[in-house]
Amino acid sequence: MYNPKSKKAEEFISHDEILDTLKYADDNKENIKLIDEILEKAKERKGLTHREASVLLACEIPEKVQEMYDLAEQIKKDFYGNRIVIFAPLYLSNYCVNGCVYCPYHIKNKTIARKKLTQEEIKKEVIALQDTGHKRLAIEAGEDPKMNPIEYILESINTIYSIKHKNGAIRRVNVNIAATTVENYRKLKEAGIGTYILFQETYHKESYEVLHPTGPKHDYAYHTEAMDRAMEGGIDDVGLGVLFGLELYRYEFAGLLMHAEHLEAVYGVGPHTISVPRLKKANDIDPDTFDNGISDDTFAKICALIRIAVPYTGMIISTRESQEVREKVIRLGVSQISGASRTSVGGYAEAERPHDTEQFDVSDQRSLDEVVKWLMEMGYIPSFCTACYREGRTGDRFMALCKAKQIQNCCHPNALMTLKEFLMDYASEETRKIGEALINAELNNIPKENVREICKDHLGKIQQGIRDFRF
Ligand code: SAM
Repeated sequence: MYNPKSKKAEEFISHDEILDTLKYADDNKENIKLIDEILEKAKERKGLTHREASVLLACEIPEKVQEMYDLAEQIKKDFYGNRIVIFAPLYLSNYCVNGCVYCPYHIKNKTIARKKLTQEEIKKEVIALQDTGHKRLAIEAGEDPKMNPIEYILESINTIYSIKHKNGAIRRVNVNIAATTVENYRKLKEAGIGTYILFQETYHKESYEVLHPTGPKHDYAYHTEAMDRAMEGGIDDVGLGVLFGLELYRYEFAGLLMHAEHLEAVYGVGPHTISVPRLKKANDIDPDTFDNGISDDTFAKICALIRIAVPYTGMIISTRESQEVREKVIRLGVSQISGASRTSVGGYAEAERPHDTEQFDVSDQRSLDEVVKWLMEMGYIPSFCTACYREGRTGDRFMALCKAKQIQNCCHPNALMTLKEFLMDYASEETRKIGEALINAELNNIPKENVREICKDHLGKIQQGIRDFRF
């Protein structure tokens, strides 16, 4: 029975409710009156239910789809301005005991080299990442209680935060590791993590069990209820996602929004982020053997509708996507992107991109300097800001900031100051020139005069060599 307030996976992600939703969406996909009503509601910027959003996803009337795109773009501008937060993944270990059939780290894969970084190797990775300008990481590891126990993850987080190379620092570590216990989530919280990210992969229980035939990840309920345990452990910034390509996208889309509704209903705060990874070619993995790949257009529509349905939730896109696709979806609602990523264990410290332990093919292979320049040339402000969780603005306090429309007085100056640090310490001459002009112009978009003045003062101090200012 469907109940968003239940803490049982099969009740808050009810298969029957998803099937009814898909039928309702099909029955109404040409119902212009209803579609207009839903679009009107979406314009209030308070979000949509999974049913309403599913009707829009099913609708293929070109003018209405265009209205969805226009609205997504407008909501993106209103809530996130032109800032794009940048991060990089850091792969700690690819040892894994699970049998996930789409992932090259699966236990039966004997062709991939296995590697786990020592603390010394982590230092090298972090120095290499700091030397390009990164301030925010997402750590990634396979699930292996013996090789990658929680103590290893905690020690690694500690190592990452402790390294201060030249003017560099990693100021926020997000964590993407397998579902774990409340006690372990509490330990991660105490270690000072930013967001806990866990992709559901698929919300379809039967498919989930086939796609995860062996290992602890096989347990659908344990995996699906992970965010509830994370919340119980005190982590109030959690990141959802599905791996598009495994199951029917309309099913996943409804499930994803139901998961967000569940978190909102039980904890009073929705997901901090939603990621939209698509299945990629990898060692021992051929994406063509999966039937549910989606076109770039469908992918863009999903991104636009997530933006409309959960306006306060950040949206993340990785280098699994090409520059071209990234350009399209950044406009429609993406607020965070990874840049200059290497998905192999120990990849950053190598001169050339290594492929032997890689998790998937990276489509966007540009350097961080190139990514920053590209964003600025499109009119975006690349942001290396990590202020919110360091100022205690997590969970509902971050949402309150959004809802009070204070982002422009807070995130905007923080973006400009962290961009200035990047320009001073890591940028090429050309990127620096474009960046300085952008900062000058964007200072005028800080509404409060006193905030603008403080920001100008901080920018001057950054120029003189002082670092790490934040609102
Ligand atoms: N092992 C952790 C877990 O069980 O959740 C998470 C870390 S894993 C390195 C990060 C994510 O990569 C997975 O959740 C999955 O969605 C994604 N992934 C796995 N295989 C992939 C592939 N072939 N193409 C694209 N993404 C993939």
